[in-house]
Amino acid sequence: MTERIILKNGKIFTADEKNPWAEMAVICGGIFEKVGKNSEAGPQIDAGTKVIDLQDRTVLPGFIDSHTHIGLSVMMGGEDDSMPIWDCKSKAEILSKLRQHVKNHPFRLYYAAFFGQVEALCGEMLAREDLDKIVKRRPVILMEQECHSAWLNSGAMKFMKLHEDIEDIAPGYSYYERDAKGRLTGCIKEMTMLPLLSMAGGVSRKEMKAGILKIADYLLDHGVTTVYDAGNYFREEETYRLLADMDLRGELPIRWEAAYIITTPDKADTAIDELKRYKSLYETKHLKFNTVKIMFDGTHRIHTAKLVTPYHDAETTGGTMLSEEKLYQLLAKLNAEGIDFHAHTVGEGASKMLLDCAERVKRECGGLKIHITLAHLETQRDEDIPRFAEMGIFANFTPHWHGGIDYGTAAENARLLGEERANKLFRAKTMVDSGATVTFSSDEVTLQLLDRWNPFLGIEIGHTRQDGYARQDGHACQDVHVCRETAEGGKGAAVFPPEEERLAVEDLIRGYTINGAKQLRLDDQIGSIEAGKRADLMVLDRDIFTVSPYEIHEMKPELVMVEGRVVRGKA
Ligand SMILES: [Zn+2]
Repeated sequence: MTERIILKNGKIFTADEKNPWAEMAVICGGIFEKVGKNSEAGPQIDAGTKVIDLQDRTVLPGFIDSHTHIGLSVMMGGEDDSMPIWDCKSKAEILSKLRQHVKNHPFRLYYAAFFGQVEALCGEMLAREDLDKIVKRRPVILMEQECHSAWLNSGAMKFMKLHEDIEDIAPGYSYYERDAKGRLTGCIKEMTMLPLLSMAGGVSRKEMKAGILKIADYLLDHGVTTVYDAGNYFREEETYRLLADMDLRGELPIRWEAAYIITTPDKADTAIDELKRYKSLYETKHLKFNTVKIMFDGTHRIHTAKLVTPYHDAETTGGTMLSEEKLYQLLAKLNAEGIDFHAHTVGEGASKMLLDCAERVKRECGGLKIHITLAHLETQRDEDIPRFAEMGIFANFTPHWHGGIDYGTAAENARLLGEERANKLFRAKTMVDSGATVTFSSDEVTLQLLDRWNPFLGIEIGHTRQDGYARQDGHACQDVHVCRETAEGGKGAAVFPPEEERLAVEDLIRGYTINGAKQLRLDDQIGSIEAGKRADLMVLDRDIFTVSPYEIHEMKPELVMVEGRVVRGKA
């Protein structure tokens, strides 16, 4: 007999536009059968029917995190001493901590470490000779926290087979830094790092599985039932093979929408075939492949994000993975094949190029038939924002960045981007108001900062644009609550401008539910509490719509259901 569950006396936010609020939901065979008023529940048929009295608690649809890197995070962040010199404040400190680390671990085959944000260098150059003085022959790889640039010693450069005549992968974006004489400095940017990372990311299959489950469990604890995988950069295929295996054994706790990721320009030519190959080999009930993802530009703070006009403190406008013509060709092919596209676009120049190409596909290829999602959108030209709604392009933001904690001070941002751009970062509210479908994500790449994966923290910071919880004074905090005691939490933090870009809680929830489902073409199955859809939902411990905004990050579902099955809490 199919189990029937009746949830009643609730404050159910359905995320269904036609019927946004309900008191009652009936679930039968894992599917919502009825959603409405208590009086509409119908007779409580037989002993097999379970009735849950919600006692006025708030219910939301299951969350969708529409841009994640779970496999990558596991590969990047063992919990051993792989971050031995985290949180440095100067070049001298980086070098002295590295020296100490090498002394403590004299037999390592190579040394890899993060040192904190790139600002730790205070504009000084960290050259390979500096590192060679500590270790020369065995590879040393230092990375900044954002993971967009690395500093190599001679051993690592040799391992990478770097030579003075090497050509850049994508000038202005993925390149090898050179000094005034044109000599390689040992600093490399963006996707040039991949061969190194694949060496550093040497986790076993067992560790990989444990790491995936750790993150998936944390997500499920916080109501996330579906993720979009924005790429694992290396060991991608092994990751998917493992996930498929886990799903076949019934060990994959969340739904997983995966992608083929373009990390070098040549991969644009084979991406469609590769995605189809993944699909034929690894697709299972909860692991699907419908999207090609591209790292289209980089990040502002190292001048690799593509701008329309140059950075304020450098001559460059940054760069992109592909030329506009190559991007157009790729988009046209994807459009013909019906394969969706997801692009990392940080700078306004990158998103402008994508929008221009989409417009051309729409005009020249008989309409835009695919879903295109532009992610991050840190700077945007005013005139480009309405184009998302006009063409039905999805805008993906990572709201836990909107408190600006990973950004510099107003003065630093102005020095980097110029006053105007610096005061208009992350304009998610303007995007929502323009009518675009806006989706939200965690986009974390470390296991250490698990709290940053929490959608409730994302909702709070997206709503307040205040972030007093982690890395408050430049340190990497593993526990949000420790920081909170010292920093008065979000309440004590400055509002990251522009203040008028604070999002409404309801819009944030829509972005984490129904809009995420639309982005992933799953809106006929999930994303809202609506008759006919799969019964993914959570019962909250407090009312997210009336609680103090600064408490939202502490909230936790008391009950989580996936397809009508209770996976957290007790029914
Ligand atoms: Zn990402």
